Amino acid sequence: MTTDHTEPLSLPECSRDLSGGTARPIRRAPDPVLSRQAERVEAGTPEVVSAAADLVATLREGETGAGLAAPQIGLPWRMIAFDARRHPRIRSAAGEVVLVNPRLVEASRWEHGREGCASIAGLTADIPRATRIVVEGALPGSGESLTIEADAFEARCIQHQLDHLDGLLFLDRVPGVLSLHRRHHSCDA
Ligand SMILES: [Zn+2]
Repeated sequence: MTTDHTEPLSLPECSRDLSGGTARPIRRAPDPVLSRQAERVEAGTPEVVSAAADLVATLREGETGAGLAAPQIGLPWRMIAFDARRHPRIRSAAGEVVLVNPRLVEASRWEHGREGCASIAGLTADIPRATRIVVEGALPGSGESLTIEADAFEARCIQHQLDHLDGLLFLDRVPGVLSLHRRHHSCDA
């Protein structure tokens, strides 16, 4: 995997206060936490800040690809973490970001692209996603609102994480069995 990335845009370093978390085991399908609707949470509470730090710690372990959603570490809460700089195909990259109660506000230019998931071993699939999105959410701790414009792989990664909050796995979006592949690489969304 190459590391020839473009420089990330400068955004609030929301992860600065999120060190010191503990990596947690990844829940795998068919764990029920992965198929339920996650709940909105208060971004400023100590429990949410602590969980955000754990999410970041788990993401930084590097076995989950470029993104992770709270249900994947067993928390049915609306919170996602991503860092598209981990992937060679990136165009936009906001850096390492955690969003609480994230919401997709714009989506356009749909394309198929390959996805995998740390919660589903051994499979990838071609999934249609918007290649340009705008997502809003709150930063853990301050609760400050953040709006991110993303495209290409980062947009795909964020949509994949948002699906986790609605109890959807990428397999739920596979358009047909011919879109399913055995995994040959580790380029997770
Ligand atoms: Zn996933």
